[in-house]
Amino acid sequence: MKEASAAEVNQILQNQKFYFASQETKSIDFRLEQLKKLKAGVKMNEQKIVKALALDLNKSELESYSTEIGILYEEINFTMKRLRKWVKPKKVRTALTHTGSKGYILPEPYGAVLIIAPWNYPFQLALSPLVGAIAAGNTAVIKPSELTSNVSALIADILQELYPSSYIAVAEGGVSTSQALLDQPFDYIFFTGSVRVGKVVMEAASKKLTPVTLELGGKSPTIVHEDANIRLAAKRIVFGKFMNAGQTCIAPDYLLVHTNVKAALIEAMKVTIKEFYGEQPIENSSYSKIVNGHHYNRLTGYLNDGTIIFGGEKSDDKNRIAPTLLDKVSPDSPVMTEEIFGPIFPVMEYTSLNEAITFINSRPKPLALYLFTQNKETEDQITGRVSFGGGCINDALMHIATPYLPFGGVGESGMGNYHGKYSFETFSHSKSVLKQTNRFDFSFRYPSAKNGLKLVKKLLK
Ligand code: NAD
Repeated sequence: MKEASAAEVNQILQNQKFYFASQETKSIDFRLEQLKKLKAGVKMNEQKIVKALALDLNKSELESYSTEIGILYEEINFTMKRLRKWVKPKKVRTALTHTGSKGYILPEPYGAVLIIAPWNYPFQLALSPLVGAIAAGNTAVIKPSELTSNVSALIADILQELYPSSYIAVAEGGVSTSQALLDQPFDYIFFTGSVRVGKVVMEAASKKLTPVTLELGGKSPTIVHEDANIRLAAKRIVFGKFMNAGQTCIAPDYLLVHTNVKAALIEAMKVTIKEFYGEQPIENSSYSKIVNGHHYNRLTGYLNDGTIIFGGEKSDDKNRIAPTLLDKVSPDSPVMTEEIFGPIFPVMEYTSLNEAITFINSRPKPLALYLFTQNKETEDQITGRVSFGGGCINDALMHIATPYLPFGGVGESGMGNYHGKYSFETFSHSKSVLKQTNRFDFSFRYPSAKNGLKLVKKLLK
């Protein structure tokens, strides 16, 4: 894939800064019009999007529609319905010391924002942040992932057709393009990707003090407690773990199951995997492939980190690995220390909830956590004592799919969040304004005031 040069990206940014200064992107009607255009542009290209996702990842049409296209429509609809309310200046109370004045908060766009996207949901993770960026009144440059080249080219085509590059531009390419972009003085950087590259992005941003959102990854634990509804837990875990062949940032990474229900859960997961993907998942035309040879080799290496109790089949020429359950894994092995990001599910067991909590808390804070239990006390123990980006009780993945919940990590799994109103807030600076009255003037604050100190002490104690 051709890389964009420093001069090219500098030119794009200069054009965007110039356009932003025209104030056009700030009009609420303009923003709504661009969101409407975006939805229409995606609608017109639905079949091409499905095809590109099939070529790059062998995604099924159902998965492509629900996790890449439909979810984007939902985000656009939700935003368009509420945007007029969100952009309004928000009046706030004033302090006693400020009597006579009024305070308000004005959301303002940052300016030109940079969005860097990964390959696993290559369409949605590039365009969903764009909805927030447009809604907040910014211009944007998107850098899609070079690993999903068909989707990258299609995003460039669609957006080029819809917008002038002085407003929304796509810079295709890999690491070199990404680094050329990171050298530019953007007003905001929204990055989705790995922890390793997240550190590179933050370092580059720190040189210009550019604010960032980092949507990263990590190892998301899935706890199945002894009182869980095992049949439902198995269904929902298998759904969450093996969607897109496990290449989901919030996929259950490893299982922590109570010893008393381990055998029953494993049995139920085996039945569910067969039900969802058939006896030969690697031959199933709607089961995703691993994105490339590098990741395929990395993942097959994990198969030696434990005992395969289900699955384990692989196809070198199709880059596919069957849904696999791995028992007897050591907590120090690569499959339990690195983010798996594939269809391999290590099984760990525990006998007390404390043990599970201590295990999770001794590791970096996860992006997601899933707990299966029917006991509120158990739920409170986990949500109260374990720090994680977000998660579900008695489900997997679904917290990402509602625009009412902010989505993001904590600690090593990221900083900041988005979706729905949170996207608008992420891409807006909250400008505070105090409007003072001219009808009277308290002189006690001035250096010449006689009883100034006495009064200030009375008011501020
Ligand atoms: P990645 O970090 O390798 O790449 C992400 C983007 O950064 C790509 O556009 C890539 O071109 C660019 N990039 C790569 N190396 C770079 C460098 N040295 N300097 C500058 N830019 C560079 O991630 P990936 O492999 O595309 O995606 C998988 C990772 O993303 C996983 O860790 C996953 O958990 C995470 N992820 C997180 C979320 C989330 O919403 N939190 C969503 C999807 C994926």
